[in-house]
Amino acid sequence: MGEAVKNLYVHFPFCRGKCTYCALYSKAGVSPADREAYVNSLTRSISPIFPNGDGSQHSAPLSTVYFGGGSPAICDLRPLFKVLNPLIDKNTEFSVELHPLDVTEETLHVLKDGGVNRISMGLQSLNDDVLKHMRRGYTFNEAERAFRLIKEYFDNAGVDFIIGYPGDSWGQSPRLQRLADWGLKHCSAYSLIFEEKSALFKLTQIGTVPPPPMGTVPLKMYSDEEIMDELSFMSHFLSEIGLNRYEISNYSAPGYECRHNMATWSGEDYYGLGTGAHGRIGLKRTRNWWGQSPEVETVSEEFDFKERKIFSLRTARGLDAGDCPHWIERLDRFVEEGLLEKENLVYRLTERGFEVCDSILAELI
Ligand code: SF4
Repeated sequence: MGEAVKNLYVHFPFCRGKCTYCALYSKAGVSPADREAYVNSLTRSISPIFPNGDGSQHSAPLSTVYFGGGSPAICDLRPLFKVLNPLIDKNTEFSVELHPLDVTEETLHVLKDGGVNRISMGLQSLNDDVLKHMRRGYTFNEAERAFRLIKEYFDNAGVDFIIGYPGDSWGQSPRLQRLADWGLKHCSAYSLIFEEKSALFKLTQIGTVPPPPMGTVPLKMYSDEEIMDELSFMSHFLSEIGLNRYEISNYSAPGYECRHNMATWSGEDYYGLGTGAHGRIGLKRTRNWWGQSPEVETVSEEFDFKERKIFSLRTARGLDAGDCPHWIERLDRFVEEGLLEKENLVYRLTERGFEVCDSILAELI
């Protein structure tokens, strides 16, 4: 048997409502009974992976566990915590994504008791009009209260947000200074992608806004350059408050990088459980759907090597080309273009390289 898999991702495809920008597979309005059935099916999936229940087959403890969504905390997670308990210890990084409206003292107690030690809260915008337009269901003040409550329970907490949403401007927000005082340990800053299946895409295609809840969001579409400027502004702002970029879209205080994501970008194996979740174990790639056996695809060794290797370029650690000399010529060309810098055989993105990383990866693949 190969080395034990140390990372586990669990997906919860349930949401309070559908956000305008989102095209992920997720469902709103799922009944409590169906959510309970889903959690029960997850607990049953975990047992065959760790058949002894004490993790002995897989050299417990797990290094990282990540509950993502959707909104994991709209489910009662306690049955899962019980099954996972023998598989984690104090060194396991256990992350849960939280929607601000799911943040209550009771939920935070349950998470803490379940071994969770890292929280990522979906903030998305500082602007109340934009939040309403996104259909997020809370105001900035409510999100702020939620985050301050999280910090009473979890030191390791951060937010994720979107750059480039029509009508939003981070650079001009008077609330940035308040955000600076939140004690953030981590931020994920994603630029908006106009997914064809999203409500926002349809709205922008017909050139109207939905009946405006507050009526003040101008549907200003930003150019790629403007979005780059906002990203660059936020990158500097985050650096000023002590969060350094360690991956294209991720920033953290020193020592607070997300270990789970770093493990996947560094080429480690991981289990993926729950509808829509992907897994990577050796040459196997898995994808799960509720109530069905996982889809399993076996990839070639060449594909496997490339996939594991290439994503290290997204991170500040960089790509060590020592075991892929055939890439060196191409990587050196990116160095000449100012997109990468080189230290011995380790290549890292420059600031400009971060902005065009996807095209660099596409060329290497
Ligand atoms: S952005 Fe998150 S909370 Fe909103 S619909 Fe998508 S998965 Fe659900």
